[in-house]
Amino acid sequence: MQDLLIRGGRPWGGAITDLAVRKGRIAELGAELPARPGDEVVDAGGCLILPGLVDAHAHIDKTLWGTPWHPHQAGPSLMDKIANERRVLATLGLSPERQSARLLRRMLACGTTHVRSHVDVGPEVGLAHLHGVQAMAEQHREAIDVEIVAFPQTGVMIRPGTLELLEQAVREGARVIGGLDPIGVDRDPKGQLDGIFAIAERHGCGIDIHLHDRGELGAVTVEMIAERTRSLGLAGKVAISHAFCLGSVEPARLDGLIALLRENDIAIMTHAPSGPTPFPPVRLLHERGVRLFTGSDGVRDTWSPLNNGDMLERAYLIAYRNGFRDDPGLELALHMATYGGAQLMGAPRYGLALGSDADLVLVEAETAAEAVAMHPLRRLVLKRGRVVARAGQCLLPDGD
Ligand SMILES: [Zn+2]
Repeated sequence: MQDLLIRGGRPWGGAITDLAVRKGRIAELGAELPARPGDEVVDAGGCLILPGLVDAHAHIDKTLWGTPWHPHQAGPSLMDKIANERRVLATLGLSPERQSARLLRRMLACGTTHVRSHVDVGPEVGLAHLHGVQAMAEQHREAIDVEIVAFPQTGVMIRPGTLELLEQAVREGARVIGGLDPIGVDRDPKGQLDGIFAIAERHGCGIDIHLHDRGELGAVTVEMIAERTRSLGLAGKVAISHAFCLGSVEPARLDGLIALLRENDIAIMTHAPSGPTPFPPVRLLHERGVRLFTGSDGVRDTWSPLNNGDMLERAYLIAYRNGFRDDPGLELALHMATYGGAQLMGAPRYGLALGSDADLVLVEAETAAEAVAMHPLRRLVLKRGRVVARAGQCLLPDGD
């Protein structure tokens, strides 16, 4: 690993400074730092320096990235999309290991250094996706941190055997257990939530539940999740992804739900969904102290052909859909794609302080807000001091 001296960058858009990377960490910050023999000197030219971007909600095991264009065929409902995905993936016969590696290279090129991926676990696929993504993550462990959520994409209680498979996935290394619409998909919220919370309690893992159910169905589910988080002492270890209901209940109902999220330190993920889908009011949740994070969700897969794994573009979409125009709003969106996700993943030594891991992205922008608005070229991406991408291109050898 080579030490680097980055000259003339703006950490998170602050004053121009030099930044020295030694042994994979941020070792010095200051004006006109001397280069040491052997340093690679990088002229940042006033570019923004950000901590590595964090994609804290992805599905890297089933992306179609790197394969021929696949016209979108799914019907409008959640169950249509689940059925369509099973049909298409069975036909294409893609390898989760190869597909996740393809997407990972794209993510690195865009400056992502940490990924939490939900990985399908269920009676049809068993643990094959888990094993594929684990093999890929092991192969790339010096380039990116991957955290796996064991995800019951086809439901829990309606698919006997799923709870046992989820627990086996946790025994085999998944650090988080997932859930899926305990009412809308399973029609048995008590069964699903008791089941996954019991696994979390037994193994000390985190929980991250996909909750698409809108309105009162979603609101009741949030209450049930909060109740179990409190009674099992899991505050700070539970997240709800999507939580569309927070964007579709009356203000008084929303106030009560926000209080529950805050009291139980339950984090909320939104990727600012497309179309008329309601989504959580980001600025309000932030102001009330709810932790927020974001992710790509599916990237060019059977759910949608649109996403592309670029977390600066994701921050832009959050800003766009929330109507953020001021710098604090744009920075909040970027915070969700950096510190918000890193905190969720418990990433040690994350950030731009002295002693932090040198997971850094040089972006052709002056301020954090400009980076969100323009999501321009990533000039350089470092993972623990190693250069993993330059000028928007991943430098890892192409495994294809
Ligand atoms: Zn998802």
